[in-house]
Amino acid sequence: KASSALLQVNNIEAIYDHVILVLKGVSFEVPEGGIVALLGANGAGKSTTLKSISNLLRAERGEITKGSIQLAGQRTNDLTANEMVKRGCVQVMEGRHCFEHLTVEENLLTGAYTRGGASDVKSDLEKVYDYFPRLRERRSSQAGYTSGGEQQMCAIGRALMARPKLILLDEPSMGLAPQLVEQIFEIVKQLNENEGVTFLLAEQNTNVALRYSDYGYILENGRVVLDGAAADLANNEDVKEFYLGLS
Ligand code: ATP
Repeated sequence: KASSALLQVNNIEAIYDHVILVLKGVSFEVPEGGIVALLGANGAGKSTTLKSISNLLRAERGEITKGSIQLAGQRTNDLTANEMVKRGCVQVMEGRHCFEHLTVEENLLTGAYTRGGASDVKSDLEKVYDYFPRLRERRSSQAGYTSGGEQQMCAIGRALMARPKLILLDEPSMGLAPQLVEQIFEIVKQLNENEGVTFLLAEQNTNVALRYSDYGYILENGRVVLDGAAADLANNEDVKEFYLGLS
């Protein structure tokens, strides 16, 4: 069917180490300009789905064995992770993955490497600092010595330096105090509204994810079991019972 989705994931299966089937036919789409949440318990396959899209899966001895992924209407299954970044799709890994021995600013600059020596890198850096004033204050600190929240900001800032159309954000709330989680999601919302960045975010924190996204898909054991507008999912009795702990 014709679709204007920025990202389309069509019935993908993914395995690790040639045998372990983790994704068992996952389909969903992310419209341009949207914020879409991939929800589900630990081990459901959220990270694997993001890595299938960014093509970082191969770095973990994983591969897509069935189905297709399309970014802006073009099949991307066989591209490298580097090519995905050049096409505007950047993953922010779970656990933040800053270079601990580099300063915050050096970390941010690594995000721009696919752009060669582009002259507007400096102004983009300032833009990142405007969104994350805390990073400006910490620009000369070694990233490994900054707080968990600052490292998460640094990881998102580094992704922004590639000028992405689509950010795949894995578990941004992990290990952070509730107030910081809200701060990070507020910035995601601003980046979406002001810069037009599309987000696909994987979250175990269903509550916060549904408040900040437009649409959600729930993964269980490598399959999408439910999807809907974020507000509808937040009011769905099963979602309340199993994921929001509110029943
Ligand atoms: P989490 O929030 O813990 O990351 P998740 O929903 O993102 O959970 P995945 O990390 O995608 O889930 O893991 C899905 C399944 O794939 C799990 O059973 C996990 O053990 C397995 N798995 C993940 N990474 C690998 C790997 N590199 N090699 C083998 N199996 C893996």
